[in-house]
Amino acid sequence: MSYVTEEYDVCVVGAGHAGCEAALASARLGLNTIIFTVSVESIALMPCNPNIGGSSKGHLVREIDALGGQMGINIDAAFIQSKMLNVSKGPAVHSLRAQADKAKYTSLMRQTLENTEHLTIRQAEVTELIVENGEIKGVKTFSGASYHAKAVVLCTGTYLKSRCLYGDVINHTGPNGLQSADYLSDSLKENGVELFRFKTGTPARIDRRSVDFDKMEEQKGDEPVVPFSFTTNPQQVQIEQVSCWLTYTNTKTHEIIRKNLDRSPLYSGMIEGTGPRYCPSIEDKVVKFCDKERHQVFIEPEGLYTNEMYVGGMSSSLPEDVQYEMYRSVAGLEHVKIVRNAYAIEYDCINPRQLYPSLEFKKIKGLFSGGQFNGSSGYEEAAAQGLVAGINAAMFVKGKEPLVLDRSTSYIGVLIDDLVTKDNHEPYRMMTSRAEYRLLLRQDNADLRLSKIGYEAGLIAKERYDWVVEKERLIEREIERIQHVRIGANADVQALLERQNSTPLKTGTTLAELIRRPELSYELLKEIDADRPELPEDVKEQVNINVKYDGYIKRQLKQVKEFKKLENKKLPEHFDYNQVKSLRIEAKQKLNLCQPINVGQASRISGVSPADISVLLVYLEQMRQKR
Ligand SMILES: Cc1cc2nc3c(=O)[nH]c(=O)nc-3n(C[C@H](O)[C@H](O)[C@H](O)COP(=O)(O)OP(=O)(O)OC[C@H]3O[C@@H](n4cnc5c(N)ncnc54)[C@H](O)[C@@H]3O)c2cc1C
Repeated sequence: MSYVTEEYDVCVVGAGHAGCEAALASARLGLNTIIFTVSVESIALMPCNPNIGGSSKGHLVREIDALGGQMGINIDAAFIQSKMLNVSKGPAVHSLRAQADKAKYTSLMRQTLENTEHLTIRQAEVTELIVENGEIKGVKTFSGASYHAKAVVLCTGTYLKSRCLYGDVINHTGPNGLQSADYLSDSLKENGVELFRFKTGTPARIDRRSVDFDKMEEQKGDEPVVPFSFTTNPQQVQIEQVSCWLTYTNTKTHEIIRKNLDRSPLYSGMIEGTGPRYCPSIEDKVVKFCDKERHQVFIEPEGLYTNEMYVGGMSSSLPEDVQYEMYRSVAGLEHVKIVRNAYAIEYDCINPRQLYPSLEFKKIKGLFSGGQFNGSSGYEEAAAQGLVAGINAAMFVKGKEPLVLDRSTSYIGVLIDDLVTKDNHEPYRMMTSRAEYRLLLRQDNADLRLSKIGYEAGLIAKERYDWVVEKERLIEREIERIQHVRIGANADVQALLERQNSTPLKTGTTLAELIRRPELSYELLKEIDADRPELPEDVKEQVNINVKYDGYIKRQLKQVKEFKKLENKKLPEHFDYNQVKSLRIEAKQKLNLCQPINVGQASRISGVSPADISVLLVYLEQMRQKR
């Protein structure tokens, strides 16, 4: 029996949100790349919520775009509604979210993959890793074929030994009834990889024609629409948008759920996997927040050419008959027809502490991974990791230094650092509260923060990078100018201040000082700023934010300076921390397990105290003096 054998530079296992970004990055960096999926139709499938972005996730999408990834461009071409969230709050938490036409999102991403040079798509189940002397050599598929590669990126999502459950129904499939991948987990274990069993869930899909929208609140999109990608011309995304609808559960819904909790696999113990705390099922909400009389339910279209609608906020694994009862107890869904049942899915993923911040496995050279397989949850979290893993697989093949983004550069840096450093025993979901430097890591300045890195990695074209450099120059020059524009307490100024309910001036001040007043802004003051140059909207936005929050930004930059001091203190690889005698036992154990790359990462490991860090710093200094 002879088997097919093929040679590639990089092999990506999985064509979900992580795998697509990884494969595109590797192929766009000129490497001969193959991407595997169990079903070509499921490329960039959205098996859960029909939207991209949202709080902190919008930041990730902008950062992926600034580094040269695809998700932002893809959603700008496939969205059907768009909203900027949290606009009543500060710019650090403003977050874009777009409803996607799921079918269009998938087909556009597939087209992009199919038309990318150096990229081969293969529908086949990868069943085994080929590892020699601790180094990856390729993968084997169910048919016995071997695909040799210098680097492999695992992005298997929710498919490894997956099973879908509702009530006492168990389907040994992946999402949406797709084939599960049942062999690779065993090969991973044989190669010493530690696996976790995680779970997530999704709500039912219902038929739009059976919904009474008169009993719901219409949720319209924003006008004008702001695109995700910095490369998208805003004029091109001003489309006619569809609406989402808001309704609520009620005490009857909660009663139905409580009455049937024993039939929920979540509460009967049938589900072994650990679920995401921040994406609870409706059962969990009713049990954990029993004082709440109602929970929000968002009815969201799945696309323009389907009547299917997503029941956001009511994911569940209750039996089918209970699902009908519970959904039909909600206002507007009294006669609802279910197209697809709600269900929970369990799957294998890894303990991400086995990875370096480059997303390479510590124990298997050349093996990288990204996405839900790394213990995260969400399309955006997956795509962000896939992009970094794909870039670093390419860097590995090219013998170049890996890209490592630290917590002060990006939400991607926070995401990866939290995954590979902290003790995560449930699916990790990004939130703005996780980013300590969030005033610097806004979604509006992702291009200014990361385009240089994307350009140096080879994923951002020179022309695009040159515009970012020019944009930076325009921002700095305009900030410099308005710092020196004197504004007198004349009648026009006083009149404007009065109109804006702002305190009248007693003496002259600068334009910058006025902008810092909460009720004023760069835009509002244009009528008293005679010499104002014509500037692009995104430059004006940066001028306004940087002047308005100048003090806070400066303070956070100071904190980053301190943070960098420990980040730049490198630690030896594969080091035995038992050699540092005065370290506490728990710290020795945790450091040996995690093998942090620098003192900063060591300081974030739970169980390593500030006192341990001081001991480590003294030890490093002694080692340096001995050299
Ligand atoms: C039922 C359900 C509910 C969810 N609920 C939420 C939620 O509430 N909130 C949230 O943020 N996220 C949720 N998600 C998660 C979200 O879908 C994922 O985060 C996202 O899709 C992960 O992207 P990924 O690229 O890591 O993996 P996936 O999108 O799962 O893609 C994995 C890819 O790997 C391929 N593959 C896997 N194993 C093999 C193999 N051995 N050989 C070849 N190909 C293979 C598959 O064909 C697929 O192309 C849910 C997912 C599901 C399925």
